[in-house]
Amino acid sequence: MNQKGGVGKTTTTINLAAALARAGHPTLVIDLDPQAHATLGLGIDGKATRSIYDLIHDPADAFGAACEVSAGLWAIASHTDLAATETELASAVDRLERLKRVIAQFAGKVEYVLIDCPPSLGLLTLNALAAADEVLIPMQAHFLALQGVGKLLETVNLLATGSPPINPKLRVAGVVLCMHDAGSTHTREVVADLDAFFEGARGSTAAWSEAVVFRPAIRRNIKLAESPSFGKTIFEYAPTASGADDYRALAEAFTARHAAPARAEVPVVVTRMPVEPSLGGAPA
Ligand code: ADP
Ligand code: MG
Repeated sequence: MNQKGGVGKTTTTINLAAALARAGHPTLVIDLDPQAHATLGLGIDGKATRSIYDLIHDPADAFGAACEVSAGLWAIASHTDLAATETELASAVDRLERLKRVIAQFAGKVEYVLIDCPPSLGLLTLNALAAADEVLIPMQAHFLALQGVGKLLETVNLLATGSPPINPKLRVAGVVLCMHDAGSTHTREVVADLDAFFEGARGSTAAWSEAVVFRPAIRRNIKLAESPSFGKTIFEYAPTASGADDYRALAEAFTARHAAPARAEVPVVVTRMPVEPSLGGAPA
């Protein structure tokens, strides 16, 4: 998630999911954005199947609504109607539980569920946060891009630690740097700030106390921008492109983290957060 648009959420969702599936981890993509870009990018005809809009209203047989895109890669389509959900569910008492009920039906069937969130912190995104174990934040390493991240982290913390907490197990996994230009000094400074911010939270009660800036960053690669127009992931469209290498390596870093030993072995670093102002003063 990231409430900013155009940061690489959809590109990361579909290509990380494809990389996970290819590495032998059955993965489900849920397109939770009414713009339906992940649906398009995966080459699914959203009109031909029950969409996430239908399932949010009636979760019966969610598994039957998932399309098998390629071996081990499943997807639930979005639809423009999804935009109406925010008002349709506004007064429903279980409005934050709807997506969780859909996902529960995939237990034992897939290993990962990746949810492509809309660019807002509205009810759809809150449904994703209520259902998720971890939050991945795609973003660019630019000073202004940091501005919204504080608000985003506060929202995650509210769901994880509010009274009562809506999702006490929710953690921030970290930041995925998208459209990355490692050559610029500004970029390096922003990445160093992010690293220091997360290091400064180690051992705290914040939902991002174990978060990292994932390596490698995803380099800018035009093949990643072209592939959705063919309804293909980077692995089908341009398997030798840098975008394919980067998402394959990201999937490895992502799964290695889940296989890693307990975090208690990580030294606790308590420092003053140097990036506090640029992250909007989010509590750590
Ligand atoms: P979001 O879902 O956050 O709105 P997208 O994933 O749709 O962002 O990315 C925004 C635009 O940037 C899209 O046109 C996408 O194809 C392009 N894009 C994303 N990542 C890269 C990249 N690493 N290199 C080049 N273009 C990219
Ligand atoms: Mg998107």
